[in-house]
Amino acid sequence: MNVPSPNGNRAHAVLAALVLGSAAVAIALDWTSFGQQFDKYAYDFLFRLEQPKPWAPNSVILEIDERTLEKYGGMANLRTALADGLERICTAKPAAVAIDLILAEPSVPQVDQRLEQAFAQTHNLVLPAYVMPDARWEEPIPQFRKYAVAIGQVHADFDQYDSVSRDIPLAKAAGQVRRWALALEVFRVVKGADILESPNDLTVGTVRIPSRDRDGRVMRIRYAPVAMGGVPRVSVYDLDARPQLAELFRGKAVFAGVTAQATGDRALTPYSNSVAMPGIEMNANVYETLAQGMFLVDVSVVSVILSCMLLAGCAGFIFSFLSGRFANTAGICLIVLSQALPAVAFRRSIVWPWLPGTLTATLALAAAASWRHLLLRRALAAAGAEKTRYQKAMQFVTHEMRTPLTAIQGSSELISRYSAMPEAKRKQMAELINSESKRLARMIETFLSVERLSAGEMEMKHERFPVTELVERCTERARPFAERKQIAIEISTLPPGHLSGDRELMEYAVYNLLTNAVKYSPANTRVRVFGEDDKGGRIRLSIEDQGIGMDKKEVGRIFERFYRTKRAEQSGEVGTGIGLSIVEQIVAQHGGAIQVESEPGKGSRFTLLLNRAS
Ligand code: ADP
Repeated sequence: MNVPSPNGNRAHAVLAALVLGSAAVAIALDWTSFGQQFDKYAYDFLFRLEQPKPWAPNSVILEIDERTLEKYGGMANLRTALADGLERICTAKPAAVAIDLILAEPSVPQVDQRLEQAFAQTHNLVLPAYVMPDARWEEPIPQFRKYAVAIGQVHADFDQYDSVSRDIPLAKAAGQVRRWALALEVFRVVKGADILESPNDLTVGTVRIPSRDRDGRVMRIRYAPVAMGGVPRVSVYDLDARPQLAELFRGKAVFAGVTAQATGDRALTPYSNSVAMPGIEMNANVYETLAQGMFLVDVSVVSVILSCMLLAGCAGFIFSFLSGRFANTAGICLIVLSQALPAVAFRRSIVWPWLPGTLTATLALAAAASWRHLLLRRALAAAGAEKTRYQKAMQFVTHEMRTPLTAIQGSSELISRYSAMPEAKRKQMAELINSESKRLARMIETFLSVERLSAGEMEMKHERFPVTELVERCTERARPFAERKQIAIEISTLPPGHLSGDRELMEYAVYNLLTNAVKYSPANTRVRVFGEDDKGGRIRLSIEDQGIGMDKKEVGRIFERFYRTKRAEQSGEVGTGIGLSIVEQIVAQHGGAIQVESEPGKGSRFTLLLNRAS
């Protein structure tokens, strides 16, 4: 048996289509919300796994927590608490102070005046604004606004399925006004630089912030690692109790806002584990991302597609050139590689989607393995068929050739043993030896023809010859044989025109059909040969007899090698059951077809459909 080495262009084309198809399916799936969600979970996982080393924070949160609220008498006195806090930290000269409190409405005049005073003393004050559902900007009232060096928007970006904030829009537009994010404004103010825009990034001083215009200037937030304990927070309550804590704010960017649970201004982060982070802390984290320059950049779509194709190619390569344990081990390595890719990329601050690579590797390996399996099964089946064919051939050799060989052996032994054999007897034996050896030679010739034809080793000539000539030559050869049975061979109408192919092989086919028609017909009948143009531009050449015929089941088997019908066996006509299988192969090699119509006891019609020579 041949060990199936899957070569052959067609098989490889199928494999290529399978693995590339797998990559295409994986990439397409990644574009669905289902795929995106998988990628996000993988992102969160890597986010927790690959945390950066803690850094010295550049910002501090001035928080109005539960205790502060309690002390000041609830939400109604938020502004007083904020004013107190700001006044306490201003001696420490923070680099900038961002406020994340709604200041769009006036409250009690004395309270607002207090806050105004506090704002007046605050260096680099940045106030918030956000877009209302009616697309209007809600901004601080002018009384406060006039102290601000910048107004920043405080919109977060929550995932629509799991509500996790993984990124933030650095810009937001409503009406005619477009605003930068609060943290970005603080960063700009601290840097003392402008924000410069290009299609792929924003630049503040020397810091290039990757955030594409066409994606809405979204930036991934690099939340401070768990080991760092988040951005430091100091509550107004604690500041009141220990004013020296104000020193913690020295030179820092301050984010002032409410952290008390009651406000509900909270967001989930990849670290969250379902504990939400106050909005003000999220802003501080955005600032830390900018200040540390720790940007997470998404890999380009082209790179993802190319990597998927590469993984698919590897899967194809593995099952094309390796087998058994080696293929399995290499397959596992490929899966591991597809998993490692997003992790390695994440370490380099590149966000590589997890699903397309994983899915490509899995699907492509499964497809390639199935391909290999099917190929192996086909090779096994082919080997099995080959074995049966050889077994049949051997049976043929032993059965069919034994008779002439026995005759030859017997006769030659007799001749050599009896030297006094009469001349007439000796002559008769010599003739027997001669005719039997000729029969043997014919059998061997036929047998070899079949083998060579089916192995595709028979070289076919390409000649051009008229249909009439082919038919006439064959009938002439068959006529003496027909006359012995008083069978008339008639040629009816034949279409004009030429055929192209191997004349000798074609003659073999037509002659075979003619001799079969004669062989399987009783004496005093007629064999008719006729032709016509087929609708499909081919020539139909029919040989019709009035012989023993066959039933449907028999017709279905006559092209099998060594098959003979019961009627044929009983007719006394010698045969091997090979002729028609050669005829079928010759016709097929010429791009033609063969049809059989037959009825037991009535006769048969064999029709060849042959291509015209152009
Ligand atoms: P062979 O004639 O040597 O047996 P073939 O391959 O030429 O082998 O034909 C296979 C079988 O098909 C024959 O044995 C016979 O049973 C059947 N057959 C072929 N031609 C005819 C025919 N014209 N009429 C009836 N049976 C036929």
